Parts: sequence; C-alpha cells; structure tokens
Amino acid sequence: MVNTSDVVIVGAGPAGVAAAISAANQGLNVILIDSKSKERIGDKVCGEALSKKTVLKVSKMLDIDPPREEEINAKIETMVVRTGDPEINIELPAIGFMINRHIYGQRLLKEALSRNVKLVDNCKVSTPIIEKGRVVGVIAKKADKEEEFRAKITIDASGCRAVIRTNLPEDFSPRLYKKLTKNDYASCFREIIELKEDHDLHGKIVLQYEKDIPEPGYIWFFGDGKQRLNCGTGFQKIGKNEQLSVKQVYFNAMKKYYSDYNVIDGRGDVVPVQPPLWNAVAPGLIVVGDAAFHADPLTAEGHGPALLAGTIAGKVAKQAIEKGEYDINNLWQYNVEVMKEFGSDNSLYKILAVVLKRIGAEDLEFLIRKRVIKQSDLSVEGLSKKESIFSLLARVIRCFPKMYLLLLMKKALSATKQIKNICYQFPNDYREYENWKRKMELIYQRFI
Ligand SMILES: Cc1cc2nc3c(=O)[nH]c(=O)nc-3n(C[C@H](O)[C@H](O)[C@H](O)COP(=O)(O)OP(=O)(O)OC[C@H]3O[C@@H](n4cnc5c(N)ncnc54)[C@H](O)[C@@H]3O)c2cc1C
Repeated sequence: MVNTSDVVIVGAGPAGVAAAISAANQGLNVILIDSKSKERIGDKVCGEALSKKTVLKVSKMLDIDPPREEEINAKIETMVVRTGDPEINIELPAIGFMINRHIYGQRLLKEALSRNVKLVDNCKVSTPIIEKGRVVGVIAKKADKEEEFRAKITIDASGCRAVIRTNLPEDFSPRLYKKLTKNDYASCFREIIELKEDHDLHGKIVLQYEKDIPEPGYIWFFGDGKQRLNCGTGFQKIGKNEQLSVKQVYFNAMKKYYSDYNVIDGRGDVVPVQPPLWNAVAPGLIVVGDAAFHADPLTAEGHGPALLAGTIAGKVAKQAIEKGEYDINNLWQYNVEVMKEFGSDNSLYKILAVVLKRIGAEDLEFLIRKRVIKQSDLSVEGLSKKESIFSLLARVIRCFPKMYLLLLMKKALSATKQIKNICYQFPNDYREYENWKRKMELIYQRFI
C-alpha cells in the first residue's frame, strides 16, 4: 500500500511531534509514524528535567499551552555539581520542570492530532526510499504488511538510533554523517523511586561525581516531588568500560546514598554524547532531535533541543515545499537556525564534558574546594569569557601543586573560545560548509 503526504515524520517523540505540529500549523498535510502504540507514545526513559525557557519558547512558537500542572511533577531551580564530600559543590541556576514525559508527550500528540496530523502507530519504519538522489519517503511494516509512505519531505525523528539517517547509502549526500558507533552514545540506567521519608532535593537536580563511575562520571539525583527522586547514570561502553554493566555501576553508586525505597520505574536506554550534527539535512530529508545528536553532550538534556529542532524543521519544510525545491540548498536554513538556538552551546558543552571526564571525581573535588573552578566556569558565558591576569594568577596559586589541572583548563578555555567563534561563522551557504567543518574538526582533534 502507498500513502502520500507533504511531510512524513518517523518517530513521535518530542522532536517528531513538534515537527508535526509545526508543519500542520502551516497548512501542510502530515503523516506521523511510530513503532509504539498510540497510548505508549511519549513514554521514554529520561531524567525528565526540562528547561523552562526552552519549553515556553517552543510553546509560543507552536501556539500550544506550556506544560500544565498535571504534567509537572516538580519545579527545578538549581543544578548542583557535587563531589565525594557533599559540602563541596557548585550550584548553578537551572530554572525548569520535572516533567512527566508520558503525560506531556500524550498531550503534545493530542495537539498534533487536533491539527489533522495522521498518526500511524504500531508501525516500524525500516528504510528510506531514494529516487533520483533524493529521499522521497520510507518503507515500514504495520501488522506484518509492508507499506510505503511517500512525501515531499521526510523527517527522521526516530531518536538516537536514527533509522533513516543510518540506513542511507554511504555515497548518498556525503555532507551528512550516516553512522552510529559506540563513540556516539552513552548507555544509561535510570530509576524513578519513592523513598520512605522525604528528601532534601526539592527544586534541585544533582550531578554527583563518583570516582567509580566511568566518564562522564556522575550519578544523578533529581528531586521529583515529595519523597520521589529520578536517579540514574550512564557512560560510553567503549575501551576498558565495554564489559561493565551500567545497571551494576548504578546500584553500586546508589547504595551509598539511598537503599530503602520503592521503584516506580527502572529501565535503560541510550542518549547521544557527540556535538550536534552541524549538517542534518540531505535532499528531501531533515534529521531532528537525538537522531541528529541534539542532546547536550554533558548533561544529556535533549528534550528541549528536540522540541526546538522539530519546530524549526516544520517551518523549513514548509518553505521548501512552497518553492517545490527539496535539495540541500533549500533545507540549509534548518542548520543555520539549529546552530543559533542550541547547536553552538552544545558544541561547547562537548569540550566541558571531556574536561570533566579528564579531571575525574577526586581532582574535581580539589578544584572546587580550592575555588579554582567556580560557578561561572560551568556556563557557556563562563567558558568563553576573557580572564584578567590577576584572577588567573589567583587560580594558579590555588591550584598548586596540581598545576596539570590548570593547564588542562587553560587548553579547554582556549578550545571553547575558538569553537564559539567558529560557530558564529556557520555558513549561510552550504557550499562553504566543508571548509567551515574542517576548521571545527581541527579544534576538536587537537583537544579531544
Ligand atoms: C537515561 C536518560 C536520561 C535523560 N535525561 C534527560 C533529561 O533529564 N532532560 C532532557 O531534556 N533530556 C534527557 N534525556 C534525553 C531525552 O530523553 C532525549 O534527548 C529526547 O527524548 C529526544 O527526543 P527525540 O524525539 O529526538 O527522540 P525520542 O524521544 O527517542 O523519540 C523517538 C521516537 O521514535 C520512535 N521510533 C524509533 N525507531 C522507530 C522506527 N524504526 N519506526 C517508527 N518509530 C520509531 C520511538 O518509538 C520514539 O517514540 C535523557 C535520555 C536518557 C536515555
């Protein structure tokens, strides 16, 4: 059976549903496919922390209500970076919500359906359809029957495993990265737990650095309402960590902090840890959310970026369809806007993730205790600010005798400044991309 539409979207997570609402708002007819049943859409293993600023912005752009009371488990005000000694920590403002992903995801889906988006659930997409050098739809299986979904624009919103992007022929659109290797994602395990007594993490999300947790090295505890916490950890299963069980590492770390609790939900999943794909378009195709590595490589915050990327994708799809041109040139604006919205920040956070990984839990405690690392150093502004010679000198003195840490931080600061500058210069013309990318990759290669 062949189905046709203006836009076909693979995946009804936040990226896919935002893309569907955005495209439908502009009068496009949209088919949204997900392998889950309609009722399970939105249910996803997640830390569930969502930035207020991002979600308000997206809600306005999509003309939908911001998260409603029944969709919010708790409010967040602060992110705490903690080490072995709980007294030694850095607090950062982090205004947001602990969101119930399933309930919120179901509401977003309802918003899409009310705009005449056609949902095809229980339907597993396997490959893209490519004709004359352009993606013109996808092949999927529903109830053991193979179906074709043909469209002017295809959006891959299928999450980290990126079923369309990774199934494109190698020689198709060389500017698009088409792989998914073990270097590209972290395996995670997370639990939502109910404690016997209340906790002291209301309004807080805590990244607890532990020396026995492989890089990036922390277990998280997010205050999720009265007596409730969302906890988890994750790391790349590569090199010496390949055989480690994420679940076991999590339980070993967890027992130091909480042991007497009921598990409301405990599951594993994967999240991308690379900088965003600076090019996430190919002829007829836009890649959004985790499928384009849009999550923050340090904190795994990907819900907000997925919503934003989907919103932009719907708008750019409309512009291309209006022109009747679906080549890279006509989709390039998507990359430009993603870079402006969060691509530049997430490119910097990759460097911060690598630095924290190299420093390790014990030295991080030293740096925080000696006030060599301050609150401002862990923000995008802090990463790219100019430091006076006097404050640098003060840090040098405090860092003695671990001067290698200061050298590492200095190298990182230099890399982040260069990355920020290059992000500003992201080309509006796709023909300048290869040159731009070479410059960017050189900085990462020198640092990582
Ligand atoms: C343990 C963990 C903790 C996290 N914590 C946070 C956090 O606290 N805050 C935050 O902002 N982000 C967090 N994230 C990241 C966040 O969950 C993702 O970035 C976000 O869900 C990405 O949205 P998406 O729409 O791109 O992909 P997804 O949410 O993964 O949605 C993809 C959809 O595609 C569907 N699909 C997949 N393959 C196919 C196929 N072949 N055919 C049809 N449908 C398909 C899936 O069923 C799914 O519905 C966390 C992730 C993990 C794993």
